[in-house]
Amino acid sequence: MLLSDNVKNIKGIGEKTVKLLEKLDVYTVSDLLFHFPRDYDDFAMPMPAKSAEEGKVITVEGSISRITARSGRRSVVSCYVSDATGALKLVWFNQPFIAKMLKPGYRFLIRGTVKRDNAEMAVYQPKIYNRNDYVKLMDSLQPIYDLTKGITSAFISKSVKQALQEVEIEDKLLLKFRKENDLMKLSDAIRTIHFPKNKQEALYARRRLVFDEFVEFLTSLRQLQVNKAEEINRYVIKECTECEKLISELPFELTGDQKKTFSDIKKDMSSAQLMSRMIEGDVGSGKTVLAMLSTLAVVKSGYQAALMVPTEVLARQHYEEFSERLSKYGVNTELLVGSQTAAQKKKIYSLVKNGEADIIIGTHALIQEGVQFNNLALVIIDEQHRFGVKQRRTLKEKGLKPHILSMSATPIPRSLSLILYGDMDLSVIKEMPKERLPIKNCVVDTGFRQKAFDLVRKEVSCGHQAYIICPMVEGSEEVDGENVTDYTETLREYYQYAGTVLNDGLKVNVEYLHGKMKPQEKNDIMERFAKGEINVLVSTTVIEVGVNVKNATVMMIENSERFGIAQLHQLRGRVGRGSFQSYCIFMKGCAGKDIDERLDILKNNNDGFKVAEEDLRLRGPGDLFGVRQSGEQSWKLADIYADADLLALASEYVK
Ligand code: ADP
Ligand code: MG
Repeated sequence: MLLSDNVKNIKGIGEKTVKLLEKLDVYTVSDLLFHFPRDYDDFAMPMPAKSAEEGKVITVEGSISRITARSGRRSVVSCYVSDATGALKLVWFNQPFIAKMLKPGYRFLIRGTVKRDNAEMAVYQPKIYNRNDYVKLMDSLQPIYDLTKGITSAFISKSVKQALQEVEIEDKLLLKFRKENDLMKLSDAIRTIHFPKNKQEALYARRRLVFDEFVEFLTSLRQLQVNKAEEINRYVIKECTECEKLISELPFELTGDQKKTFSDIKKDMSSAQLMSRMIEGDVGSGKTVLAMLSTLAVVKSGYQAALMVPTEVLARQHYEEFSERLSKYGVNTELLVGSQTAAQKKKIYSLVKNGEADIIIGTHALIQEGVQFNNLALVIIDEQHRFGVKQRRTLKEKGLKPHILSMSATPIPRSLSLILYGDMDLSVIKEMPKERLPIKNCVVDTGFRQKAFDLVRKEVSCGHQAYIICPMVEGSEEVDGENVTDYTETLREYYQYAGTVLNDGLKVNVEYLHGKMKPQEKNDIMERFAKGEINVLVSTTVIEVGVNVKNATVMMIENSERFGIAQLHQLRGRVGRGSFQSYCIFMKGCAGKDIDERLDILKNNNDGFKVAEEDLRLRGPGDLFGVRQSGEQSWKLADIYADADLLALASEYVK
């Protein structure tokens, strides 16, 4: 079997499963083997019942007593498990069959996450094991995978094992190089990352896979930029008087860093060589206006420009803004996104091809087949850290050699960006617009919720808006945490009630947004929020990147312990984008020292560079999945901060 074979060649995977796996972006044997565990379950030694600590997973071995079972629409079974040190309450919802397994005096091992249940410690929905089964599990870490309905972690494990037996995995690294640099053999690394005996082993396997990931990234990046010095500039951009006019019409003055960056861009695009520049500026530092000015300059020299963004919501937002500001300069901006009808797309393709479209804004649909440009001179990649290597490569494969401007809000230290982005030139925007007030942060528990609702209401009464983020779309039996659907209902009821009590005539319009909605619905909600028709938007993290509503002043994040630090920083970046005082409320769904430490980083720092540094300091090396928790999509395992040494090694190797 080959890595490139379809997954259906693996024993036990049929047509139906193939369809399900596609939802996980798994098409080939290689995709499956590189679908790494999201985490591992560590079946640790049982602990004394009295050592139960809120928020931690615990295994207790003991005997069962005080069984109660309540049936009905929502069945509840509960009992206590006790050992020599004390007793722990156990609770199961909607699993009436559990009652049949329990008898007073039976001995079991139970395992689950500890929660506070009024005054006592409890474990909700614990799993039950007999001693022999548990001891077997203790031998190794059990992989936990990202799943979709119909696919279990056990199924993925089984298929991976099956595939590993039959597939040939070639190792491009020489034995000598591997030995010298302490890198595992590729086939061993893949096997081990799925089935490690312990964390040490998993880390060792990860090292090899991260190295390969960096090599792939750097190789394709280098291909994009091969001999930049030799790339002659066929699109020399002329001095643009319209740009000066646009700058003078802006409702604000550009910051020093923005001015400097725009002058770098102009210099690049009018020089003898092609531009290849990266703008790095924290969330809200004002990168969009630079994209707008650059495209205007290009269009006024008679060429086309394209702006590529990671989400459709963001594409539409940029499209509105560009059309509004640039149409009076005779610039024709077009939008190209996945949800448009075939007829709409066809029309836009032809406008792009015949040159009637000057600026094309879109998601990666933009670089897919079918799109032929007339005279594309500039490609801007917004939120570039969100784009995978593959998408970047497509651009090159189309034979296009335009000026490239990348924009990113990921703070990367200079030394690292030199390695990562090779000979790309770098502009850093450190200066925030003058009018900005620092965001006021707080970390609170759910007891503060009502106060937070009142703060939101007060902000709404001043004409401002709020975002509330929940980790889930709908309620779930297995995972607890706030969900967008129920939360919206609760909030509507609360504001209706508050309206009656306070009798001040204030109506608070609450709507929700999540990734499972149809693109049309999402756009509609976003547009109404942008216009101020919606006061409070309850959303999943779909609003994370790029969304710009200046009037929003409150960001409240429920279950903030669930999100990565970088992701929380991006979410917070949705507020504080105008001149009003803004607030960010990090709401904790459960307590724990680790959780407080992480959230305190955000509470104490508004600067993305500081946040990233502190985050790394806290995690330290040896963190298996740091990056995936931080919401960076272009990496599977690698973390440019924590794996800086491997990045340097990969860079040497690629050279
Ligand atoms: P990001 O860098 O996160 O992409 P945006 O470009 O969306 O940020 O800018 C955030 C907000 O700040 C926008 O509403 C934009 O109009 C505004 N803005 C940009 N530059 C300035 C400036 N120099 N002074 C005041 N406001 C600015
Ligand atoms: Mg932006």
